[in-house]
Amino acid sequence: MSPSPLHPLAPSLPLFAGRLAPSPTGAQHVGNARTYLVAWLSARARGGAVKLRIEDIDSPRIKSGAAEQAMHDLHWLGLDWDGEPAVQTERLSHYEAALEVLKQNELVYPCTCTRSDIASAASAPHAGEEVTYPGTCAHRCVADALKLREEGRPFAWRFRVTENLPFTDRFAGEQHIDLKHAGGDFVVWKNGGGPAYQLAVVVDDAAMGVTEVVRGDDLIPSTPRQLLLYRALDLAPPAFAHIPLVVGEDGRRLAKRHGDTRLSALRAAGVKPEALVGLLAWSCGWLDRPEPVASRELLPRFRLESIPAKPFVLTAELLRQIGFVVT
Ligand SMILES: [Zn+2]
Repeated sequence: MSPSPLHPLAPSLPLFAGRLAPSPTGAQHVGNARTYLVAWLSARARGGAVKLRIEDIDSPRIKSGAAEQAMHDLHWLGLDWDGEPAVQTERLSHYEAALEVLKQNELVYPCTCTRSDIASAASAPHAGEEVTYPGTCAHRCVADALKLREEGRPFAWRFRVTENLPFTDRFAGEQHIDLKHAGGDFVVWKNGGGPAYQLAVVVDDAAMGVTEVVRGDDLIPSTPRQLLLYRALDLAPPAFAHIPLVVGEDGRRLAKRHGDTRLSALRAAGVKPEALVGLLAWSCGWLDRPEPVASRELLPRFRLESIPAKPFVLTAELLRQIGFVVT
């Protein structure tokens, strides 16, 4: 590895580390809990470390006390972590350093497009697809940012996608995503300032020595972008395991419309964490039926490949069985 301010101090890091990365923008719910449980077990079952990161860079939506709430929820689930949590809002200088590297290598360009510019210039996406950036500003180079600044024109920094990096997901298998036609050049630094999610998580996971990322499969399209950033920053990428989400009875991703399934609501209703963990463990194929179990007791039973490939449908009846009535 070449020396870089972005590289961690390797000798102090364990060989294997997973991570929990709650975003305090919304309270943690049953769907988040399932992903955290899988991520924690995957690391701990191999004797690895677990790192905690509070993803709070989306500042306007952060509620005060939400980070403490997220940590409380994790502890309630019986999930622990090693060392102090990393807090993204305290790490801005690291993201700025990474952006500098991208600029020095002319891998990004300033983009002045607004959301509506992009929507009107791009061909209409099919349902469920994201809008592909049409390349309106791709003719610019890094130095053009000076002129834009003089003119008082705000801009984002966009990463130039020149190729697709296929990857093998530990759960979901081979992934070939045509980034050029599914998203295109992507923002790494937001118009108005601050790193975009893709840049921040890459810088953080590398600095924290994370070797395996377990997260919901809604983030599969993020992974080829992040792999491009790992390479551009000369950082070693982790392995990825994207697992299916928890959905409501209507098949849609678990959200407020399905009622209050926040962990704090379950806790307030007197649901025991072991009851919820047992339900989640059953949903992952580690128990024959939902019965109370502590997270730690699942260590010898953990198998990533036992998790069904389909989303887990959380019904009101399943919640009733663990003593919770959805309101
Ligand atoms: Zn643009």
